Order: sequence, then C-alpha cells, then structure tokens
Amino acid sequence: MMPTERHKGPSPHDAALPNALGERLRGTVLCDAAVPAPSSANRVGLADTGVERIGVLGGTFDPIHNGHLAAANEALRRLGLAKVLFAPAGNPWQKSNRRVSDVKLRCEMVRLAIESNPAFELSFVDVEHAGNSYTVDMLRGLRGCLGKAVELYFIAGVDAIRGIPSWHNAAGLAELATFVAVTRPGSYLDGPAIDALPVAVVCLEIPGVDVSSTQCRERLAAGLSLKGLVPQGVIDFILEHGLYRDGRAEPLARDSANTGQVTRQGEK
Ligand code: ATP
Ligand code: MG
Repeated sequence: MMPTERHKGPSPHDAALPNALGERLRGTVLCDAAVPAPSSANRVGLADTGVERIGVLGGTFDPIHNGHLAAANEALRRLGLAKVLFAPAGNPWQKSNRRVSDVKLRCEMVRLAIESNPAFELSFVDVEHAGNSYTVDMLRGLRGCLGKAVELYFIAGVDAIRGIPSWHNAAGLAELATFVAVTRPGSYLDGPAIDALPVAVVCLEIPGVDVSSTQCRERLAAGLSLKGLVPQGVIDFILEHGLYRDGRAEPLARDSANTGQVTRQGEK
C-alpha cells in the first residue's frame, strides 16, 4: 500500500522544502496508518513525481541487525526508492555516554549485511566527515554528491524521528530530505510529537523486528546467539573476530585511514 498524506497545518519551516516532492509536502505528513491521525485527516495518495528517490539509513550500526535491514527494505519497496544508502556514523555524538566500536568494524559489518542486495550501498559520507556526526551535515554531503535531481529520503525509526527537534541545526533539515519514520517495537510517535517536528515525515508501518544493537551486544557479552537477529555473515564475522565479548567490538588495527578502507584485524 502506498502511503497517503494528511494535512498538519502550516509550519514556519515549510518554505525550506525545495524539491518537487517537498513542494507538495509543505505542511503535511504522509501517513499509511503507522501514526495516529487527527480526526480531520485529509488523506490523498502520494503521486509519482518521476524524480529518482534515494533512501539514506543513518545509524551507529554497532552492530547492524535485521531491524535495520527491514526498515531499509520496506522503505525501498513501498516508496519506490532506487536504492538505499547505509551511512554509518563516524562520531555518533548521541552515544557519547558509552564506548562505540571502531568505525571500520561497524562499516565492515554493514558491508557484509548488505552485499547480497544490489539496491543497498554502503556510504562513507559521514565516516569521511570530520567532527560530530550531524544528520544535517551528512545530508548536505549527499546533496553535494548526488545533486538536486534526486529526492532524498532519510529513513529512521520512530524513536530517532521523535528526537529530531534536539538535533543539530534541526531547522536546516527540511530543505535537504523528506524523513521516513518506520515503526519500531516499543517506540511510538504520537500526534503532538509529529506536530513538533520541523520536517515533513512519511510514516511507514513495517512488520516489527524486535531487535536493537544494544540487545545484540548484551547477548554476545552473555554468550548468547544472534541467530535470527543479525545476518549470518555478520554473525560469522563477529565470532571470527571475537567481537563484543565485553559488550563492545575490539578496535581494529590503526594503520588504515578513516575513509572506509576497512582493514580486518591481522590483515594488511
Ligand atoms: P542501539 O541499541 O545501540 O541504539 P539501534 O538498534 O537503535 O542501536 P541504531 O544504529 O541506533 O540501532 O539505529 C539506526 C536507525 O535504525 C535509527 O533510526 C533506529 O531508529 C533504526 N532502527 C534500529 N532498530 C530498528 C528496528 N528494530 N526497527 C526499526 N527501526 C530500527
Ligand atoms: Mg538506537
């Protein structure tokens, strides 16, 4: 089912949406029942504008799991995206309260998880960016590479979407991409939370995959299996390299540049 849209009322940020879809999205939320709609909902179909749509899934991916892949797959299929870029965060400032695994390890696990799907690509746009991983910078970087002739869709779970007002330069996000809020077990996005967002949002209800990277790290630290939660190739990599035995992946050799040229432990 393609999403439908409902009116949300004018927003001070509406004028920032530049692309064709953005023009149509001013002051609206696209919704396919993932999110409670106000009783006055005025739903219309999302028309095909003929412009190439590219999805971006940002994340720490520590490690990548089947919930990330389900979110990307659903967005790809239901929004008619040409591809989905997986963009690991180089310096995830929101996770500064815990040790985050080496970016090269996280990139390698993403690569292994997506290698069988030609519509999925690993993007180093954020890894190559110095300083904190801010979505606004990542999207600007992608816009710089891809040009204005594409529509960007930033895919995120509703837990992440809810936090957008606190993101760095949140007001600058709307002109860069449309945001896709996928449902996530245990998290929700209600009407007031949507109204507080400075961006247009496409809401996708997806089959729930009840897994988080935190849960994966905890299971590994407890010696439990990740079968069914993480792609087998990633499980093999984790076990082969003894990652997350203390709840965190070991750092890789420091001889490779921070450009996504991933060097496995013991490899040159
Ligand atoms: P952690 O537990 O370390 O926070 P995580 O599982 O939330 O990890 P992230 O890398 O933080 O994974 O998430 C990247 C993006 O993927 C976020 O937008 C998040 O909401 C989304 N996401 C993660 N897991 C799921 C899931 N099971 N279903 C839907 N979306 C998800
Ligand atoms: Mg998270």
